[in-house]
Amino acid sequence: MHRERVSENVYWFQSDVYAQVTAGVIAGPQWSVVIDTLALPDETLGMREFVEHELGVPVRYVINTHYHADHTWGNCFFPGATIIAHEHCRDLLIERGIPSLEAAIKQNPALQQVKIVLPQMTFSSGEMTLKVGKKNLTISTALGHSDDGISVLVEEDRVLFAGDAFMPIPYIVDGNVDDIVASIKRIGRMSLENIVQGHGDIILRGEIETAVKENLNYISAIKKAVRTAARRKEPLDYLEEVNIESCGKSRVLLGGLAVQLHERNLRALLQYVQSGNGSEKIS
Ligand SMILES: [Zn+2]
Repeated sequence: MHRERVSENVYWFQSDVYAQVTAGVIAGPQWSVVIDTLALPDETLGMREFVEHELGVPVRYVINTHYHADHTWGNCFFPGATIIAHEHCRDLLIERGIPSLEAAIKQNPALQQVKIVLPQMTFSSGEMTLKVGKKNLTISTALGHSDDGISVLVEEDRVLFAGDAFMPIPYIVDGNVDDIVASIKRIGRMSLENIVQGHGDIILRGEIETAVKENLNYISAIKKAVRTAARRKEPLDYLEEVNIESCGKSRVLLGGLAVQLHERNLRALLQYVQSGNGSEKIS
């Protein structure tokens, strides 16, 4: 696990075992806030160790940016904390998180110590604020990667923990293409110092404009490819030829995982169009 100080009392963690997934900590004088947990118990416990022993404060809140396993399955390692999330995150953890943990435990015994802990404090629109020491956190919705995405802005530092609404390659399979475009555009307008992506590296101020543009271009490229595919007799055969580079992204992103994400994006978008939901929206 990598760790970096982003700004005063703000820390970032990145997994080196699963998809470069990230988490954050904002520490106040009495207590701290954790943003997302890491994919495997050992890494989440390592993060907790750092907060409790090196920073010397307990964790009072854990904010889940969305319900996916790699961001929430460490909730149980903060038994004294209140979990904050989008209202749908709670529903989705019940509906999908619990059965998928049961299945995952059979594959990976390291997960036996994991229990799904549901958010106690939720919201579904607008913003929620949380003051940690001198820092004001603004929590707001950031949909598109999932229907329960939220992001956390550290107001004083202009550091945004974007969750998976911002990734090295946008991933929309469990979300919605129009929502992710709206989220990426909004992030682009926020005058940020840093974007902490849900996966991958921190984006610095000077890189933000390009990252936003590249993600929007990628979405346009896959939409265009899917529109063409939908007009073919064998749309899936056509999509097989649409490689990630032709959509403006590199295959080495996220340790090579990007290729799989790209292929799944294309298939999901095709389904969306074929189901009739997106036929006008994406044309
Ligand atoms: Zn994720």
